[in-house]
Amino acid sequence: MNYNRTKILTCLIVFAAAASAQARPAADLIVIHANIYTVDRRHPKAEAIAVVGERIVAVGSKAEVDAWRGPETRLLDAHGKLLLPGFNDSHVHFTDGGAALAGVQLNDATSAEEVKRRLAAQVAKTKAGEWILGGDWDETKWSPAQPPTAALIDSVTPNVPVFVSRYDGHQGLANSVALRLAAISAGTADVPGGVIVRDASGAPSGIFKDAAQELIFKAIPPPSHEQRLAAARRALAYAASVGVTSVQHMSAAFADVEVYSELLEHGQLTTRIYCAPLETEWQDQAKVGLRRAWGSTYLRLGAVKGFADGSIGSRTAALFEPYSDEPDNRGILSAEMHPPEAMRERLMKADAAGLQLRVHAIGDRAISMILDMFAAIEVANGYHDQRMTIEHAQHVAPKDFERFARLHVIASMQPYHAIDDGRWVEARIGRERAKTSYAWRSLLDHGVTLAFGTDWGVAPLDPLFGLYAAVTRATLDGKNPQGWFPEQRITLAEAVEAYTMGSAFAEYQEQKKARSRPASSRTW
Ligand SMILES: [Zn+2]
Repeated sequence: MNYNRTKILTCLIVFAAAASAQARPAADLIVIHANIYTVDRRHPKAEAIAVVGERIVAVGSKAEVDAWRGPETRLLDAHGKLLLPGFNDSHVHFTDGGAALAGVQLNDATSAEEVKRRLAAQVAKTKAGEWILGGDWDETKWSPAQPPTAALIDSVTPNVPVFVSRYDGHQGLANSVALRLAAISAGTADVPGGVIVRDASGAPSGIFKDAAQELIFKAIPPPSHEQRLAAARRALAYAASVGVTSVQHMSAAFADVEVYSELLEHGQLTTRIYCAPLETEWQDQAKVGLRRAWGSTYLRLGAVKGFADGSIGSRTAALFEPYSDEPDNRGILSAEMHPPEAMRERLMKADAAGLQLRVHAIGDRAISMILDMFAAIEVANGYHDQRMTIEHAQHVAPKDFERFARLHVIASMQPYHAIDDGRWVEARIGRERAKTSYAWRSLLDHGVTLAFGTDWGVAPLDPLFGLYAAVTRATLDGKNPQGWFPEQRITLAEAVEAYTMGSAFAEYQEQKKARSRPASSRTW
């Protein structure tokens, strides 16, 4: 990827509508000689900005912005560098990402043996009683591309419990110590919404998919407040380093909110965070009267996050037709969708309480079912600018593009997944379904709002990878230099807009974090 980071400055574009009405305070900062791309279609280019406190108060020519200069104003000459609005990542797991920065890294391991070596090295750094977690292994980078087993890693981890995740978070590998602590044996029953992978004798192989991961999670002590705080601090510093100024934390634990709140109190919350705790806990927000986007500039709540299915990589995304390489498997619905009516009931009530609905759906069947629920919710509760989102929206049935638009549903997507999964996804779902996968062009052409992000720690937080993916669709294996299904590519301007305005719209902040006003409720 040929981005020259030194040429790009990012800055949160926040406009204070009322700022010019009164006696004008002098700017704290003025940036001149910048190549500013505003993401405002009426005035896309500018050369200078003025900032008062945490807000940008003027964008325009050097002369226009100079009116804000006072004796104390800091003047920064950008020497022609590109200045973009701060990136707003519409889907992250912020503290997980922060924790992973200090944990074992397995994602770029090129063989199962290397995974074993890296785990052995991690054991030496692990305190007694602690688990080795995270990792983000990806067996598609190994040869043969086979999922790992407990037997692979047991010899190097004889006394330390290990539960390392596949990079998609939809399966994890436990070692025998972890199985013992979680009291898992051949006799352990399967769980709805999950799979315990077993050997020929019925003994667990160490791999747990989707809801089955809960069997192990239950045995892992939750991170302490100090561990969570340390992870959040690492995440904040890292986000700032890659130009991400806002994030939307999906499936946030209330303990995460507590940590953010503490950092906010100390003036240390340097990224603007919108939290979406689980929809199964919607009443915890509703009972204290929180509604969508409730809070302050830096910390807000009021969304709920749900899960409809798993992932394509783990063959747990729910499809209408079977997986092309597994004819008996159409994927599985999440535990929360057993039965779907229970999920619909909760979402209906959460929406009626004024909470925003954000639901993970990856397979075409799961996406369709959630659109059905959203349609029923709009009928029952009326349309009130809900801005319901489908998180990931990866494999959309052609009939459903139009429904996204009609129901004003935002597609919250992570472009990097396309160039990563694009290496193998056609083998899983076939060419026909791949045509409407990660289908940014089709969604935009139908008038659907795109919000972009990464799913960090699942994928890298750096937004430049996402822009690269959206514009090129060049898969990471180098096999599609002209783009994998290039008709679904979008322009750089569209990608930047989805990553800034689109994400701001998805969190009801488009008036504060961007200048343009949506022309209608579903697009602009
Ligand atoms: Zn996620």
